[in-house]
Amino acid sequence: TPVVILCIGMAGSGKTTLMQRLNSHLHSRNTPPYILNLDPAVSHMPYSANIDIRDTVDYKEVMKQYNLGPNGGILTALNLFTTKFDQVLAFVEKRAASVDYVLVDTPGQIEIFTWSASGSIITDAIASSLPTVVAYIIDTPRTTAPATFMSNMLYACSILYKTRLPFILVFNKIDVEPHDFAIEWMHDFQAYQAALDEKGRDEQGEMAYTSSLMSSMSLVLDEFYNNLRAVGVSAMTGEGMKDFFSAVEEAKKEYETDYKPELARLA
Ligand code: GDP
Ligand code: MG
Repeated sequence: TPVVILCIGMAGSGKTTLMQRLNSHLHSRNTPPYILNLDPAVSHMPYSANIDIRDTVDYKEVMKQYNLGPNGGILTALNLFTTKFDQVLAFVEKRAASVDYVLVDTPGQIEIFTWSASGSIITDAIASSLPTVVAYIIDTPRTTAPATFMSNMLYACSILYKTRLPFILVFNKIDVEPHDFAIEWMHDFQAYQAALDEKGRDEQGEMAYTSSLMSSMSLVLDEFYNNLRAVGVSAMTGEGMKDFFSAVEEAKKEYETDYKPELARLA
């Protein structure tokens, strides 16, 4: 059976570019993936999808017809697509025997997918049919500030607990900024503390409210960090593909041992 890789991440983190990279990498390994694009608003798609939401709904038409702004248009387009998702899943299942990987790209704005009914319905439908893992893409160069790093980790944490799926933190754009700092902060509470100390004190040398909040939260996140894999990649240069795919294999095993039995129990 194949594994489904759900690419989720903030706008601009590099989901679409990574999809392209994974696609060309898998082609060069002679295991071409099956690709779903769920972003109705992508203007330039650097890969070709087997199933593309844009073939079914035109979000600009949707905006006009329902008198919506861009986000409303995208969400409504996703909702309309979701009503047909059983058919989409049937296509995927039909091809499942002949592919090793199914790649799913999601809308640029993360909340449209992660906090909508449609996003949940699609995620649950896929995950109850095939082994599924979440690849949470992070814009590494833009997460070097301790407070930004913490917000990003909390967001990842909320998605992990919402989906309950095996999770991979993918630090992207390491061609611009290596992700060593992130790994260090995740594994060494004191190193994160030191970074906060350095940047988080005001003129009087008092720790600002946010810094002391971050500091307490990083202790809470410790448990979260222990439960996931983190890899560094560059969607641009292709660095880190080997690590990425070994993390996917591990996560797939976790799906079989943890998620699937739970699914069976709930059925
Ligand atoms: P998405 O909104 O998450 O789908 O992000 P995109 O894939 O559209 O990428 C957003 C921007 O980041 C684009 O300008 C990409 O060229 C750039 N980008 C994506 N991945 C990388 C990377 O690994 N390194 C660098 N330097 N830029 C990247
Ligand atoms: Mg995109």
